[in-house]
This record gives sequence, structure tokens and C-alpha cells, in this order.
Amino acid sequence: MSTEKDFVKEICSRDVDFSQWYIDVVRKAELADYAPVRGCMVIRPYGYTIWELVRDALDDEIKATGHQNAYFPLLIPESFLQKEADHVEGFAPQVGWVTAGGNEELEERLALRPTSEAIICEMYSKWIRSWRDLPVMINQWANVIRWEKVTRLFLRTTEFLWQEGHTAHETREEAEEEALKMLDVYDDVLRSVMAIPAYKGIKTEREKFPGAEQTYTVEALMPDGRALQAGTSHNLGQHFAKVFNITYLDRNDEQSYVYQTSWGVTTRLIGALVMVHGDDYGLKLPPRCAPYQVVIVPIIYEESKSGILEKCNEILNELRGAGVRVHLDDRDGYTPGWKFNEWELRGVPLRLEFGPKDLEKGSVLTVRRDTREKQPIPLDDLNRELGELLDRIQVDMLEAATKYTVDHTTTITDRAQFLLTFKGRPGIVRAPWCRSGACEGKMQEETGATIRFLKLEPESAAGEKCVGCGEDAEHWAYFAKAY
Ligand SMILES: [Zn+2]
Repeated sequence: MSTEKDFVKEICSRDVDFSQWYIDVVRKAELADYAPVRGCMVIRPYGYTIWELVRDALDDEIKATGHQNAYFPLLIPESFLQKEADHVEGFAPQVGWVTAGGNEELEERLALRPTSEAIICEMYSKWIRSWRDLPVMINQWANVIRWEKVTRLFLRTTEFLWQEGHTAHETREEAEEEALKMLDVYDDVLRSVMAIPAYKGIKTEREKFPGAEQTYTVEALMPDGRALQAGTSHNLGQHFAKVFNITYLDRNDEQSYVYQTSWGVTTRLIGALVMVHGDDYGLKLPPRCAPYQVVIVPIIYEESKSGILEKCNEILNELRGAGVRVHLDDRDGYTPGWKFNEWELRGVPLRLEFGPKDLEKGSVLTVRRDTREKQPIPLDDLNRELGELLDRIQVDMLEAATKYTVDHTTTITDRAQFLLTFKGRPGIVRAPWCRSGACEGKMQEETGATIRFLKLEPESAAGEKCVGCGEDAEHWAYFAKAY
């Protein structure tokens, strides 16, 4: 029989092997597992509930900002994809194809959508006739397929879930405003729901979405010093409109092309959540996206069992009534210590321990997952104090992650030091850059790091020399190795 300590032994230490730690946590906490199909994952109920909580919070904001949900087909005719050269070139190596239906070979191959611009633009070209039809503000929750050679649960899988927003506007300004607004929405959900701090920035020409005029990004720093692109929002300009012929009669009675945006986040956010907050005991969930915010573990002795369980059920019902996501772990055959470890591994933000002594005192012992602090709370004030405690955990977790990000963002101006620093994984490095794409590519070869973003208002680096080529620098760029 395994002992309580085995739980922790089953998870590799973060410092020993971060990748192994990540996989251990994802699998032992029952978030996801490898599917029998290469490159694919199964999202298990606990992991899927986290996704639902994040998805619902984001969906609320998507709707509150004037968008509606719709659904487009999974299959895209090859000719649609090929209309846009950059687009098809950008995705070609990762596209999966359907070549037969039943026993019949198809006349035209169908792509499994790697993204839906092509099919949505085709529909918009039919739907949009006049300026009165604008703006079109549609979002889709869907799965997409991008063939991957390496599988990393949540982070890199051939099939994943996401949302993709696709909007069409009368003016460039409106499209720009929309792209930036959705970047703010992503940033807000990351912070307020997932307690993940992110940098809002703009991608370089080299790193932007194929076919976009401008790509905005929210980038979060992971504890292994790599950056993770948590969401992107693209100002597509009139590029796709011209390719797919999305025209409308404007206010001057002239045919004009619409201006478009697209924006998306994926289930990879769950990977970020695991990495940003987890520790050697396992997962650590912020209350707002925890399937169970509170778990009650009864401390049971034979003689007092029924009284304790009765009171635990009362607490359960009271908290449920107050809208708390709460679970009572009344399983027989497991010691309280075993249960403590299991719920720590699964990241439940708050544990309530309740035994005969607590019953006597009329209180319950709370144990925070994030700080492991213990604190008794009187039962007659449970709802209020628990609500406050959960709010505090949410705030403290964001603060801790923010501190980490700030502490691991450094400014370097010297080329030699820049190269040396990226021999390791220094986090995010702010350095002067000349804005040449060739120079950017060379730096990636030299260091394995890429420019993750420039600030939304790029900061002038006048007077500095580019860390790549030594020429006069134009802007400060933010470099990191990335997921
Ligand atoms: Zn340069």
C-alpha cells in the first residue's frame, strides 16, 4: 500500500526537470491524458471544468463587448485556403486533409480548419452588402487541427479548442480599436480569472499572423523562463477583404472593402495556468477558475463519526447555497492525510478541516493552498469570512505571479552580455533593436530567443546600439525563449 508521502514522490520536482514536473501535474491532477491518436489529448472532466470556467468568463466579456457566437464548418475547400498566399504558406506544413468521403475520392481536398478566416471571409462576402450591415461582430468556439510532430498536453497538440473572433468594419480606425479592445479583454480575463499577469504588446513583422497587418499579443512569463503567447488579436486591414472580395456600398454610395480583425485564445491557457501557479505539491488554482474552490475534509474517529459528518454536510449545504463550488470528501478508506495531499495536488484553493475539537469550539480550520497558511474561522461567520478569504487568495496569487514576472524582466544593452544571458533562460530581456527582420532572424539563430513583442507604443531606443548588429537601435524589444 502506498503511503501519504508517495503522492509528492510521484511528481518530479520543478527544479529537477520542469517539463517532467508539468506532465506529472497535468496527468496526476487528472486534467488531461494522451489520446491513442498521436498528437492528440483527452481533456478529462477536472481539466475540462477549468476550461469551462475560463471559457464562460471570456464568453461573457465577448458578448458584453457586442459580439455574438456562431458556428462555421470544420472542413474548408482547398481552393478557399489557397486564395490567400501568405495565409496558405503560413499554415501549409500543419494542415490536415480529407481526401475521401466514404469510398469515393473527393474532387477537391478539404482542409481540417487550422483557423477559419478562409471560410468565414467567404460567407462575409455574401452577407455584407451595405454599410448598414456593418460592423459584423462574430465569435466562434470550436476545435482546430494543426498537425504537430511533438505533443505537449495543452501546450502543443494536433487538435485543440479555442475561440476565434472575426469582425468586419467600415474604417481602419474601427478595426484597430476592435483589435486592441479584444487584447484588453484577454488581458482582463487572464488577470482577473486566471491570476496570470501578461504583457500586452505588438508582434514584429516576422512574428505576426500570416496575412495580418498588425498582430497584438498577450505574453506571459512561465517559471522556467520561457514566454508563452497566451492570446493574439490581429488587425487584418483590408487584406483578406480584397482576397475574398468582401465589398459593401459605403455611405457615399461607392463600393468599398471592409476592414477586418480576428482574435483567439486556446486551451493552451490551461497549460499556462498549471505552470504559472503550480509547485512541487502539484497544481495551485486561483478560486475563480477552480472546479472546487473549497474542499471539506472531515477528521473522523469512530465514536464521533456521525456528528462530524452531519455538521460537514450542513457546512456543505450552506456554502453551496452561497454559490461556492464546494466538495465534501467523505470517502471511507482514506486517511485525512491522504486526502489533504490529493486535494493539494489537484490545486483546490481552500481546504476545510473539521473534527471533534472544531465541533467543540464551533469553528473550522481553513488551510490555503497558495500559502499553506492555517486559520480557524468561526462557523457562525463562515460564509462571509470564507468569501473574503477566497477573494484574498485570488488577489495574492496574481500578486505573486506579477512579482515573478517583474523580477525576471531585465534590461540589457550590451551585445556580449545579451548573448551570454541567453545561454540560460533568463526570462524576458528588454534590449535595443534596429527593427531589421534579418537582424532579428540572426539573433534567433544565435540565442534561440525571439522578439516576443514591442510595447503597444514602442519605446524609443534612440542613442542605443542594436544588440543584434551593433547598428543604431530604433526601439526596445522584449526577447525570450518561447513555448
Ligand atoms: Zn540589428
